[in-house]
Amino acid sequence: MRSAIAESNRAAGLDRLQAFASKAGSRYTKSRNFDFGPGRHGNVSMLSPYVRHRLVLEHEVIGAALRHHAFSTAEKFIQEVFWRSYFKGWLEHRPRVWADYREDVAKLIRDVETDSQLAERYSKALSGDTGIECFDAWVSELLSTGYLHNHARMWFASIWVFTLDLPWQLGADLFYRHLVDGDPASNTLSWRWVCGLHTQGKTYLARASNIAKFTDDRFNPEGQLATDAPSLVEPTVYSVQPLRDAQALPPGESFGLLVTEEDGYPESLLGGQAPTAILGAVAPGARSPLPIGGKAEDFVLGAVRDAVERAGSFFGVDGEILVSEDWQSEVVAWATRHRLKTIATAYAPVGPTAELLEKVRDELNRHGITLLQIRRPYDETVWPHAQRGFFKLKQQIPAMLERMGAENGAVRVATTAG
Ligand SMILES: Cc1cc2nc3c(=O)[nH]c(=O)nc-3n(C[C@H](O)[C@H](O)[C@H](O)COP(=O)(O)OP(=O)(O)OC[C@H]3O[C@@H](n4cnc5c(N)ncnc54)[C@H](O)[C@@H]3O)c2cc1C
Repeated sequence: MRSAIAESNRAAGLDRLQAFASKAGSRYTKSRNFDFGPGRHGNVSMLSPYVRHRLVLEHEVIGAALRHHAFSTAEKFIQEVFWRSYFKGWLEHRPRVWADYREDVAKLIRDVETDSQLAERYSKALSGDTGIECFDAWVSELLSTGYLHNHARMWFASIWVFTLDLPWQLGADLFYRHLVDGDPASNTLSWRWVCGLHTQGKTYLARASNIAKFTDDRFNPEGQLATDAPSLVEPTVYSVQPLRDAQALPPGESFGLLVTEEDGYPESLLGGQAPTAILGAVAPGARSPLPIGGKAEDFVLGAVRDAVERAGSFFGVDGEILVSEDWQSEVVAWATRHRLKTIATAYAPVGPTAELLEKVRDELNRHGITLLQIRRPYDETVWPHAQRGFFKLKQQIPAMLERMGAENGAVRVATTAG
């Protein structure tokens, strides 16, 4: 099957953005829900892997769309970009949702070893052997390309939970291991949304007629799908937490730069201050107890390598790459080699990178080294509006764009956190 995503670097992301921006208006609004199949996703941008790893920034995508269209014409596309920011901000306010998901996945993987019926259903779904032609085709597309259209993700998740009677957490884990845009917030919360756990009581039921219409009659699973989708319930009520602290880089500070998969454009993060050393750290295996897919791993390795090389030539500093799930000792060793007292890194939203950085920070502190996590002004602007439903955030989009300085088709966001 043809690979969906080209190279994992900023230049390829910018090329894709340039090619798509003119199509982000009414053409996108009318056609975005159609999934024409592998190699035929030209009606949507396929920018998600680049934006997820911040090889291309959200405000660059919105700015490019606004250079070609009035806000009202590109509104749907811009809203979709804000869905990503909404999910990130929402999870920042409820980190327990992620912690519980992690525990559930570990437990369910153990359950599969002891529960033969669950094991059989799970194994048939994973190998695309359910007899539901569309579902089996999406498994194959996911595993071989690392990408699925948004509508296919919704149908897939709904069939996984309500027809195949599988735990949502194992489906989210499968997506997270294989998607080239695998994202703790967008993925976990979209699965929860399908099950009625995000917008409580409101589930998403995949219907054969809807699949037939929006796959252009490639599939019609008439009579094969569950006919109702009773909302899942969970015992925990997740209360809203304040955002974790982020830090600023003091002017004139000597520091090393730590690049992670959370931000592939570090040259724009540091307010012009140059690091004395650069380390890119990647931990593909931290996504799950089960192995990560080849496409997802290649993308994330490529993204961090590209960021380190680009930042290295921008600042005139040689960079190094660490591929490991044990960052503590390696990052301390690197900092000691370069006599660093301060390390700056992009703020990592809730997810595996944040978990790893927490451990690294404690280990660095023990060695008298400070880790600064720098949050982008875009996140500072958007996340406070992401505490409840998307509708509330959506209403704020024009005001947020105004605050970001949207003018003449550009969205100017200050490049450093202050
Ligand atoms: C069950 C499920 C799991 C998902 N898992 C992920 C994931 O792990 N990572 C991920 O990036 N997205 C995820 N999504 C959201 C969405 O499907 C993808 O972002 C989108 O399909 C990417 O394709 P695109 O770039 O062509 O999108 P376009 O339609 O071109 O949209 C433009 C941009 O808006 C953002 N966007 C669009 N739709 C959504 C959405 N529903 N939620 C959040 N952001 C969106 C993306 O950054 C995207 O690049 C998931 C959706 C579902 C239903």
